[in-house]
Amino acid sequence: MNNIKGKRKKIYEHLHTLHIHRKLVREFCFKCGLYKQGIIHDLSKYSLEELLPSIKYYQGNRSPLAYEKELKGYSEAWLRHKGRNKHHWEYWYDFIVDRFQPIEMPVPYLVESICDRIAASKVYLKDKYTDASPLEYLLTKDVTDYMHPNTANEFKRILTYLKDNGEEKTFKMLREMVQEDKKRRHKD
Ligand SMILES: [Zn+2]
Repeated sequence: MNNIKGKRKKIYEHLHTLHIHRKLVREFCFKCGLYKQGIIHDLSKYSLEELLPSIKYYQGNRSPLAYEKELKGYSEAWLRHKGRNKHHWEYWYDFIVDRFQPIEMPVPYLVESICDRIAASKVYLKDKYTDASPLEYLLTKDVTDYMHPNTANEFKRILTYLKDNGEEKTFKMLREMVQEDKKRRHKD
């Protein structure tokens, strides 16, 4: 009985966290002018292949898939997720001229990724969150060495700007980046 209760609680809490996360990302993406991406962000997390492991490894204070990775050495759900969701820098990797290497993230997905990072930090850190938290997370995780150098520089630049100038100015800057990128692509 307790087991069923515990499972039900995990399902409810995971879905609730996902709902709050998607709501925040949507709000941030809309501020940046990314309407479609804001709506479809992380929808693949509702597929059974991603949902079931997320519930099984649910902990509440970090991504369940990170916990799954720790236990098993890999997470099938994460591999599926990053293979389908362009807002993850890990999606942008391929064999190019006989080397497995990072590809520069297009601006709309880089911006969605920043929105994702801010939202995830807020959900997990709650009242401990500050404008410096997303940058601190990026630097402690030390993942920038694996990204395309331009993508890594952009992540650092934008999150440092957030730390120094706050959200309002950062979203304004991101909106301008998205608009300029759109203009540039229309010309091509
Ligand atoms: Zn995602």
